[in-house]
Amino acid sequence: MYGEIKNFLDRELQSIEEAGLYKNERIITTPQSAVIKLNTGQEVLNFCANNYLGLSDHPRVVEAAKKAMDTHGYGMSSVRFICGTQDLHKELEAAISDYFQTEDTILYAACFDANGGVFEPLFTEEDAIISDSLNHASIIDGVRLCKAKRYRYANANMIELEKALQQAQDQRFRIIVTDGVFSMDGNVAPMDQICQLAEKYDALVMVDECHSAGVVGSTGHGVSELFNIYGKIDIYTGTLGKAFGGAIGGFTTGRKEIISLLRQRSRPYLFSNSIPPAVVGASLEVFKMLKDSDELHAKQQENVKYFRDKMLAAGFDIKPTQSAICAVMLYDAKLSQTFAEKMLNEGIYVTGFYYPVVPKDQARIRVQLSAAHEREHLDKAINAFIKVGKELGVIK
Ligand SMILES: *Cc1c(COP(=O)(O)O)cnc(C)c1O
Repeated sequence: MYGEIKNFLDRELQSIEEAGLYKNERIITTPQSAVIKLNTGQEVLNFCANNYLGLSDHPRVVEAAKKAMDTHGYGMSSVRFICGTQDLHKELEAAISDYFQTEDTILYAACFDANGGVFEPLFTEEDAIISDSLNHASIIDGVRLCKAKRYRYANANMIELEKALQQAQDQRFRIIVTDGVFSMDGNVAPMDQICQLAEKYDALVMVDECHSAGVVGSTGHGVSELFNIYGKIDIYTGTLGKAFGGAIGGFTTGRKEIISLLRQRSRPYLFSNSIPPAVVGASLEVFKMLKDSDELHAKQQENVKYFRDKMLAAGFDIKPTQSAICAVMLYDAKLSQTFAEKMLNEGIYVTGFYYPVVPKDQARIRVQLSAAHEREHLDKAINAFIKVGKELGVIK
C-alpha cells in the first residue's frame, strides 16, 4: 500500500528542492586528494575534504591497509565481544590512548556511533548533560537517547555555561559536552575555561575531537595539547574519518572505568560490526607516522596561515580560525552558491553553506586546508577567489 506515502514523499522532496536545499552529490573518479577528477572529466583542486593531513591516499597508509588484509583478512563478521577482536584492534586502541595520553580506548564503526553510545550507559534521569548549542548532530542524537536532564549554552558562551552548571547543582552527576573545533567557523572551544568551570561546579568534561585532533596543538595532538590541560578531560570522542586517514571508524578514549563500562553497555559497540582489519592496520600506520614526525601537521598549519593571510590581504572577510577551517564570509545565501559554482568553473572545489546549516544571513564558503595542498594549489585557489570575488563585487 505504498501509494499514499509515495505522494507524500514526492511532495516533501519537491519542497526541499523548491527551498533550494536539495543536496546533490558530485561524483569523484579518483582517490580523495588535493587534485581530484570528477565524472564530468573535469580536474579540480579539492578544498572541501576533511583530509587534513593528506593521508586519504598516502602510499604508506594504502600499503598498510593491503598488508593488514593479507595477514588478517577482509571482514570480521562479528561484533567485538563475540569474535570480532583481533590483536590489531587492541594495538589500535593502545595507539589512540598513547596519542591522547589517556588510560583506555574503545573503537566504534564511526564517531557518530561513539557519540550515540556514550551517554546512555553513563547517565540517568538523576544526571545533567550540558551541551554547546553548536555541537555536532551525533552528540545531539546521543543526548536524546539518554534520560539525563538537558541544558544548552550558546556557542562557547562561558556565562551561559556557568548558569547552566549552577542550575544543575541538584543533579547527581553533571557533564559538559563540546566539540573541540566547531566545523562551520573553525573556532576552538575555550577548553581551559570549560575545565575551570567543571572544577568549580563538580562536572565531568567531554570533548569531541573530530575536527581538532591532528590539527590543533603545537604538534596537532588536539585540545589537551593546545591548552595544556592533560588529565582534565574525562572523555574524548574522535573519528578515523578525518585527519587520521579519512576511511571510517570512531573511538571514545579517556578514563579507564568509563571505557570499561562502555564495553559492557554501549549499544553501538555491542550490536554493530567490528571495523575491518584493513582500516585498523592503516590507522595503526597513521599513528606510527604521527609519532615519528610532525611534518604533515606542520605543513598543514603553514598552509592555513598562508591561505588566511593572502585572503585577508585581498580584502576577504575571514572568520578568525584556529584550525584547518577557513570560513570566507559572504552573508548572502544565493551569493554563496553562485560563488561556489564560479569557483568550480575555475577548477576549485569549495562548498557554500547557508541557513539552516549556518545562522540566517551568515552564508559563507568553507575552505578546508590540508597537508596535501602544495603552494601552487593554494595560489591557484587564492587567485580564483580574487577573480570571482571581483566579478561578484565581494572585493574591490
Ligand atoms: C565528522 C564528525 C562526527 C562524525 O564522525 P564519523 O566518524 O564520520 O561518524 C562527529 N562529530 C563531529 C564533531 C564531527 O565533525
